[in-house]
Amino acid sequence: MQDFLAMTLSGQFPEPQQGQQHGFAWHWLAEGVLELTPVQDYHKVVVLSAGIHGNETAPIELLNQLCADLFAGKLVLQVRLLIIFGNPEAMRQGQRYLNADLNRMFMGGVSEFTESAETARAKGLEQLVQQFMQHSDPQAIRLHYDLHTAIRASRFPTFGLLPYKSEPFDPEFLSSLEAADLDALVHHQSLGRTFSQLTAETCQASSCTLELGKALPFGCNDLSQFQATDTMLRSVVANQPLPPRGKTSAMRQFQVQYSLLKQHDDFKLYLSDDAPNFTVFEQGELLCTQQQQETRVQHTQEWILFPNPNVQKGLRAGLMLTEDTGA
Ligand SMILES: [Zn+2]
Repeated sequence: MQDFLAMTLSGQFPEPQQGQQHGFAWHWLAEGVLELTPVQDYHKVVVLSAGIHGNETAPIELLNQLCADLFAGKLVLQVRLLIIFGNPEAMRQGQRYLNADLNRMFMGGVSEFTESAETARAKGLEQLVQQFMQHSDPQAIRLHYDLHTAIRASRFPTFGLLPYKSEPFDPEFLSSLEAADLDALVHHQSLGRTFSQLTAETCQASSCTLELGKALPFGCNDLSQFQATDTMLRSVVANQPLPPRGKTSAMRQFQVQYSLLKQHDDFKLYLSDDAPNFTVFEQGELLCTQQQQETRVQHTQEWILFPNPNVQKGLRAGLMLTEDTGA
């Protein structure tokens, strides 16, 4: 398994489909899904996923290299690990998705979409991840890092999105996000339909969607930009102490306050198309209009994330955040 990515992109699968080397047993479970179990006891169960959006190539390459180093014995596996390339067909075509966004299909979201290869993949991944967790040591800490890159530029180049979780996140997991040099952390306050929400809610995992810069084609990524995340993930997988945070500034903490919903075709967002994520608005500023109804900023300041006025009617055209200043 020197190149799990090349194998996945070519549509091939390993023969035999399981084996053992360098102190772990591996099992190819499905296209783009590889399970690795250390021979020795483990205390953590980790899911690393990338390519849920097929054109977000840098994290896919990062994960592939990590996998290759495990199989080459350069990195010692000390956790039970599930490696996932989320949407192989979209990866082959260099598209975010083919029919609809896979990362809106978990937690029952699949029922709102016409059946497609992607709805089938969402169901398949859901089952594989849950089986993987159920077959793991029940005492082990459960972690999930879902790796992405954003479509647009961002005032905070790297950031994490924590799904809603009624129980606290594992403290070491939160430290790992510090160690990844994230600039900001966004806390959801209600259930979503993302892959990280699925593992947080149904597998009791501490989960995060990581947005690691901007999407570029395969081979065009400067992976050094992703160094801190890579180093952090390698220390998690090898169960070694986390690297120190390389940035002098602390992670900024944001709460999702509400979504801008596109309910009518005349929806207009008062933001330029190239405005970065985390563009800030002041109280009273106009955010959007539809059917003569205005939505204005309510808090002293609000930050916009993932603005997209071109979504289909009924979908989210942006997330509005407030900052936790600790006051
Ligand atoms: Zn993505």
